[in-house]
Amino acid sequence: MARIYVTRHLPGTAVERLRAAHDVDLWPEDGPPPHDELVARAREADALLTMLTDRIDADFLRAVEPLRAVANYAVGTDNVDLDACTAAGIPVGNTPDVLTDATADLAFALLLAAARRIRDADEAVRSGNWPTWSPGAFLGQDVAGATLGIVGYGRIGKAVARRGEGFGMEIIHNSRSGGASLDELLERSDYVSLHAPLTPETRGLIGERELALMKPTAILINTARGELVQTRALERALKDGAIAGAALDVTDPEPLPADHPLLTAPNLTVVPHIGSATRTTREKMSDMAANNLLAALAGERMPYCANPEVYDG
Ligand code: NAP
Repeated sequence: MARIYVTRHLPGTAVERLRAAHDVDLWPEDGPPPHDELVARAREADALLTMLTDRIDADFLRAVEPLRAVANYAVGTDNVDLDACTAAGIPVGNTPDVLTDATADLAFALLLAAARRIRDADEAVRSGNWPTWSPGAFLGQDVAGATLGIVGYGRIGKAVARRGEGFGMEIIHNSRSGGASLDELLERSDYVSLHAPLTPETRGLIGERELALMKPTAILINTARGELVQTRALERALKDGAIAGAALDVTDPEPLPADHPLLTAPNLTVVPHIGSATRTTREKMSDMAANNLLAALAGERMPYCANPEVYDG
């Protein structure tokens, strides 16, 4: 029997399944454990079930060694130093595929909300400013016939493209292995949706130069990671009218404080990192993370491993 530290309550029955085979220590609060607490609990654990808010880097691994496995409750693993885990012989699990449709749905919901000014219109109704019906009130932008540029054409990027095709959009995409150049995509797109992982290469990918390449009528959607976009540059681009709007599920910093200057920018919709937040998706993510840990602790290969090279040799 191994000892597992789970850093948050999980939807579904995954924790019970882990408890049936192992000793489980569960962080009882809604927010993440403070880093010191995470280190202290991890020192007593053989394996961890972590969230994207838990930083697992080389210093952490040195402080808590030896760990047998880490299962991250996300497809992205930018909170985990995969190279350091591989060097320490620790397999890292993630949760691809099961959250693709939920996240693509949210990206498209944000696109439609920004295109049709849902937030402004809803706010007007709630504040008693329902305008008499008028041909010029709350004019938004067309989606059918517009060009959707997808940066990061993987599982979620392709799922967003399918939704765009269903809405009659022209799709262009960019990734390292093909598609249009990023500059061309930014220049041609009416909507730009980000779906690349956060890596040293993509950190700050969309800054002042890139926003200036976009059409002044274009809308930026980010459901990937906040750090792909330079926050100050986005704030300026919205205030100066360099682009027409933005809709974000992820921000830098995250959480975004209520008094953050970005929130004073016009034509901005922000939701609090809810891309995969459907009940079914979150339960599937719980099961995948638990299955990854159960396999690793049984001496088997993790079914979904983000650093498969850990098994080489
Ligand atoms: P994926 O299937 O691995 O797709 C990522 C794509 O990005 C790959 O096709 C990759 O293609 C491309 N890429 C990598 N580096 C790039 C670069 N420098 N420029 C352009 N494209 C690049 O991953 P996924 O499952 O679609 O997930 C994508 C990301 O979404 C995750 O990493 C995560 O951060 C984020 N996410 C967010 C939420 C949320 O709640 N908001 C939920 C799920 C996922 P090449 O290798 O050919 O470049």
